[in-house]
Amino acid sequence: MGRESHQLHIFFFPFMAPGHMIPMIDMAKLFTIRGCKSTLIATPYDEPTILKSIAKTKDLGFDIDVVTVTLPLKEVGLPEDCDNLNRLTSIEMHKQFLGAIMLLDQQLELLIEQLAPDCLVSDTILPWTTEIAAKWGIPRLVSCDSEPFIIPNFPGEIPMSGMQLPDFCKEETELTKFFKEMNESEKRSFGVIMNSFYELEPAYADHYRTFLGRRSWFVGPLSLCNKETQDKAQRGNQSSIDQHECLKWLDSKQPNSVIYICFGSMANFNAAQLREIAVGLEASGQQFIWVVKKDPNAEEGKEEWLPDGYESRIQSKGLIIRGWAPQVLILDHEAVGGFVTHCGWNSTLEAVTAGVPMVTWPVAAEQFFNEKFVTQVLKIGVNIGVKQWVRLFGDSVKSERVEEAVKRVLVGEEAEEMRRRAKALAEMAIGAVEEGGSSWSDLGALLQELRRQRLAHNKKI
Ligand code: UDP
Repeated sequence: MGRESHQLHIFFFPFMAPGHMIPMIDMAKLFTIRGCKSTLIATPYDEPTILKSIAKTKDLGFDIDVVTVTLPLKEVGLPEDCDNLNRLTSIEMHKQFLGAIMLLDQQLELLIEQLAPDCLVSDTILPWTTEIAAKWGIPRLVSCDSEPFIIPNFPGEIPMSGMQLPDFCKEETELTKFFKEMNESEKRSFGVIMNSFYELEPAYADHYRTFLGRRSWFVGPLSLCNKETQDKAQRGNQSSIDQHECLKWLDSKQPNSVIYICFGSMANFNAAQLREIAVGLEASGQQFIWVVKKDPNAEEGKEEWLPDGYESRIQSKGLIIRGWAPQVLILDHEAVGGFVTHCGWNSTLEAVTAGVPMVTWPVAAEQFFNEKFVTQVLKIGVNIGVKQWVRLFGDSVKSERVEEAVKRVLVGEEAEEMRRRAKALAEMAIGAVEEGGSSWSDLGALLQELRRQRLAHNKKI
């Protein structure tokens, strides 16, 4: 295998967090379907989840597998079970976690030596991998969800308040240094693979390539490589609801009559905020599926946030999923007419791909940028009015605002208009990944480029 074989062998190294692993697994599947051998790098904790997600692709005879690396958690002072970002409970732990990941360099080098890949695709959060790839003479491609930049000459008049920026953008913190490193290593890398499609953001794609001079390939939406119900249901963690039960519930509803509420894999709300959401949803009179993350600190069976008698009152009108939802399966159902989202890039793109307008409720990271993009550039969403970037726990929003925003995105002329625009984008998304589409062609061009690189490298050695 490796350099002598005709087939390109690609390493995919995601950051250990669901929002980073899910699109990278899809990407590995996409590359293997296009003729590459894909090897995903994961911890033993994440390995079963990945194996489940790739099982069908593997059974179909495609060349895709997982190899493991062990996080030195003890060395950085973290407990043994902290091997994924969504299992950490404080910012201090996040810093330790990043430290542990940086200590994976030797394990990565050993894998490169043993398995001789032709290219390393690694997460934007793993800047140190650029140097390792260079040392072994292979290109590193950065896997990037979305670019948090506001800079001079940025297309569109997009105002941003200081409160909506991460603190590391406003003052020099440890993270500022890390993000600078990320940016620098991206410049030194072979290029960037984007989970997006050109038609969605032509001005920004051009700006990135021309003004910033970055080589980039737009190959998404990656979630579209999951075509069957089973593939969609098996994305990410184990669902907390049986897929058939979920679909049966949705099948009983009229088209565009259900709002779906989910804040991704990381964001957390306190009991008071969850209660506001509960009250707002009930007052809106709309049907809903609401995903509430399990609170690891809550007493078993005790749900402070749930108003008395709530579930018996809402009965068939609302479905609460406690834990993990099969999100793409839900968004793609015709009964779903709106999505209250924290604007994580995956969720945002999944909504675009499903043609579903959004209520935007950003919490942290680059989510405020994505909100602006959805509401002001694409005009397929209304904002709930969050003012402040708060890292992990959302700003507080009153039930009246929830009620109003849910109604605005689900019923009436404005909702119809947004839905029309969203559906048009969804069609473009599907067109982009079909043979001859922009993402399909961009990936083809990238693979050709990688083959040329390999040839040039082989001549040298
Ligand atoms: N997701 C899911 N079920 C859940 C919560 C999240 O399938 O209950 C998936 C969602 O479809 C998306 C990813 O997890 O692909 C979350 O990524 P995103 O970038 O939206 O947010 P993050 O979790 O990184 O904040």
